[in-house]
Amino acid sequence: MQHKETVVIHADDVESDGAINPPIYYSATFQAKDADEFAEMAGTSRHPKYYTRYGNPLHTRVSKIVAELEGTETALVTGSGMGAISTTLLALVRAGDHVIAQTRHYMSTSKIMDEMLPRFGVEVTVVEQADIQAFKDAIRPNTKLIMVETPANPTLVVTDLEAVVELAHANGIIVVADNTFASPINQRPHDFGVDVVVHSATKYLGGHHDLMAGVICTNEVLAEQIWETHISIGAVLSPMDAWLLLRGLRTLPMRVEKINQNALALAHFLEEQPQIERVFYPGLPSHPQYELAKKQMNGFGAVIAFAIKGGFAETERFIDALALSHNAVSLGGVDSLAVHTAAMWKGTMNEEQMKAAGIPPNFVRYSVGIEHINDLKADILQALKHTYEIDKV
Ligand SMILES: *Cc1c(COP(=O)(O)O)cnc(C)c1O
Repeated sequence: MQHKETVVIHADDVESDGAINPPIYYSATFQAKDADEFAEMAGTSRHPKYYTRYGNPLHTRVSKIVAELEGTETALVTGSGMGAISTTLLALVRAGDHVIAQTRHYMSTSKIMDEMLPRFGVEVTVVEQADIQAFKDAIRPNTKLIMVETPANPTLVVTDLEAVVELAHANGIIVVADNTFASPINQRPHDFGVDVVVHSATKYLGGHHDLMAGVICTNEVLAEQIWETHISIGAVLSPMDAWLLLRGLRTLPMRVEKINQNALALAHFLEEQPQIERVFYPGLPSHPQYELAKKQMNGFGAVIAFAIKGGFAETERFIDALALSHNAVSLGGVDSLAVHTAAMWKGTMNEEQMKAAGIPPNFVRYSVGIEHINDLKADILQALKHTYEIDKV
């Protein structure tokens, strides 16, 4: 394999019509030269120029790059990360099957596990992701699929990919990994045997907080099966977003390297601040699974979770006082973003209920961008100062 920096520039090279940067194929449908060619187009899986729900030249280009980065035979693109996850799950399980998932997943993935799959007659067991014995104990004769996500919100807990795959494959079970929080630059689950790697390309792969997209990386056999479901579900990536995603991918290795450096430096800096109670980051020796994270990751990514001293009000004040990072969801882009986790739930839960759900009122999720590290540190210091100064008045 070429180096990742070269892959993102050249893995999608096609016979050139002269344009270095591909045009946006803003066409829902494509014409055939004659009846024979039409029959061939209609009968070819993922044809890039038949009907855009089935494929598009820019879908093909994006797929080639991401498959190469993840080390899988092929990849499919979708209109969002949830499009990738729901399509994959609906394609691979049927009524009577059993699925094992983690207690903590991206919220909409948990909803699929808790509500949607059971509606279709699929049983789901959720297990603590750091506990390999729990995965083992959950396996049944009808277990079809294990879904993992690592690192996972909110405390960046890591799942041992190699151990889960070993258990699964010994029992004929497919493993699907949501690799969004790591990116293929920091972690390649297929190297550990994971069968299907899914991404919200809205995050690192796009990298600029502008597009919505998803990617499914796998082997040809599973890709064919998932694609059959994909054309029925219809979570299609728009040609414009595919073009933006291609643009984003060109700089993915550089962006992720810079983000890794910034985030690690910021995580250490946060740990030194007396107003910070606890910092969760897989790249810190204080992370309970630091050794495992080092074993399966090449870098530790953008997201840092930390608890500040105080409660809901102090945390709200801190977030409001941050001047550089925007108060917004999402992660892995060029801009730093900060979210007060408990504020996301304020409308639906009171503090007691949040406590029961394991959402501390003083939790901040910070996605580090590519700004200069000294400016990010200075911003956090001034926000902390502001937060506790008000208390003294
Ligand atoms: C954002 C995200 C998703 C969902 O992706 P969308 O592109 O928003 O549909 C899934 N998994 C993880 C880990 C995410 O961060």
